[in-house]
Amino acid sequence: NFVSALIPPDEIGVRFDDVGALEDVKRTLNELVSLPMRRPELFSHGNLLRPCKGVLLFGPPGTGKTLLAKALATEAGANFINITTMDQWFGDAEKLTKALFSFASRLTPVIIFIDEVDSLLGARGGTFEHEATRRIRNEFMAAWDGLKTKDSQRILVLAATNRPFDLDDAVIRRLPRRIYIGLPDADNRTKILKVLLARENLEPDFRFDKLAIATDGYSGSDLKNLCIAAAYRPVEELLEAEKERGQSVVMPSLRLLQLDDFIKAKSKVGASIAYDATSMN
Ligand code: ATP
Repeated sequence: NFVSALIPPDEIGVRFDDVGALEDVKRTLNELVSLPMRRPELFSHGNLLRPCKGVLLFGPPGTGKTLLAKALATEAGANFINITTMDQWFGDAEKLTKALFSFASRLTPVIIFIDEVDSLLGARGGTFEHEATRRIRNEFMAAWDGLKTKDSQRILVLAATNRPFDLDDAVIRRLPRRIYIGLPDADNRTKILKVLLARENLEPDFRFDKLAIATDGYSGSDLKNLCIAAAYRPVEELLEAEKERGQSVVMPSLRLLQLDDFIKAKSKVGASIAYDATSMN
């Protein structure tokens, strides 16, 4: 089942250019992860430049954490194991975690990605904690600690969560680099929209800045859904026109997307996170 969770670097299909905004985060991840994975020889001298074994991405949902994790694997030339997509964790925890880390050490450089890490490696839940959860967490940490030095330089555990406060202290300690991925401001929404709409047929001089201002509180994922809803409008219009005429066009050409399509689509796709900008001051 690890094989199904594995994507080789040349099959991931997204890179940093596909992630809009988050420039500082990309720069940090480059220094922290891609460079040591691509050029380990530069990091094998002295004690100051030690590649890190664990990175945590945290912040509200839909802000691009998963996208960023995949893009990072491409940039680092690393295999990507997304263990979130594995459904059989609750089998033999000890066997599974050992197998995972030994599988990973044969595939270096490799990034082991755990989305919603709070649910797999969450806080100690007191007496009511599920025995299986406790066992998985302990086994995972033991296998992680047991990485040989030569492997630990080229195996990274990359975790993501919307609920960092639910994480176990022992897990947090093993993720020494914690990077906050927040909701984009207007400038960053402009950058994300430019990435999302790079291949769409937009009216000339499309006002990305106006759309960014009109989408306060939208996450990257909300912006994507808004773009999909807007792109559907010319299709809907064409279908309407065909219905009126009673026949379909053989080679239909769709009109260019206009700012107004996006503004109208806002009634269908709003900001998914309750967020009141005025109360932040
Ligand atoms: P969750 O916490 O809900 O898992 P997430 O932070 O991992 O969310 P993603 O799943 O990466 O968010 O984002 C969902 C989709 O939104 C992405 O596949 C992408 O299409 C779009 N998206 C989000 N952020 C960006 C961005 N910065 N640039 C381009 N697209 C983005």
